[in-house]
Amino acid sequence: MSEIKGNLENVRERIAEICEKSGRAAADVKLIAVSKTKPLPDLEEAYACGCRDFGENKVQELVEKYEALPKDIRWHMIGHLQRNKVKYIVDKVFLIHSVDSLRLVQEIEKEAAKHERTVNILIEVNVAGEESKFGVTPESVLELVKEIAQMPHIRVRGLMTIAPYVEDAEENRPYFEKIKKIYVDIIHKNIDNVFMEELSMGMTGDYEVAISEGATYIRVGTGIFGERNYGSI
Ligand SMILES: *Cc1c(COP(=O)(O)O)cnc(C)c1O
Repeated sequence: MSEIKGNLENVRERIAEICEKSGRAAADVKLIAVSKTKPLPDLEEAYACGCRDFGENKVQELVEKYEALPKDIRWHMIGHLQRNKVKYIVDKVFLIHSVDSLRLVQEIEKEAAKHERTVNILIEVNVAGEESKFGVTPESVLELVKEIAQMPHIRVRGLMTIAPYVEDAEENRPYFEKIKKIYVDIIHKNIDNVFMEELSMGMTGDYEVAISEGATYIRVGTGIFGERNYGSI
């Protein structure tokens, strides 16, 4: 068995196990194969094993892979998005996970209107308050949600967070709990045109903890494709 196929089987088994333990349906947790820096044959292999959700963090790479691969793939933009690049992906992405400012949202609205489509987004929240990370503060999420609710071509689908890099995944549990709470609070506000359904959290090192705290999307790169080699790019 190839490495990617074996890795995927392993990840899927672990998802099923942790769902079982946490009393969740396995179908409620969607696996995004984070394929950044990886060559097309690796993505094709994951596709052959049933992956249809792929995550990229760079606009140009997403566009190139979008053009080369089957059109039933759902592309997830998970990296920091610059306003001047929104136009290249607005008609290609299934979900933008990394919305972190009103100005970015305004640009997405403008481009989405041009393409006459509705773009689904998540708001990235910097729950751990790390300076090196993008994302809005927990205190400003609600305000941004309310702004976006006014925009006809954007739908807020939920929240996303990138937890700190830690040795012991349990250390991230409080951050997952915290974003879940913000998410639930917003659901209870019943804001028109806001559809809080998705919680994107958990990566290779901590997705099991994230699932047990309510993740609906987990983003797994290394655990599927192996280590990334940034040196050669
Ligand atoms: C790279 C990346 C991932 C995947 O990280 P792994 O540790 O390789 O699973 C997940 N989310 C985001 C936003 C990323 O940039």
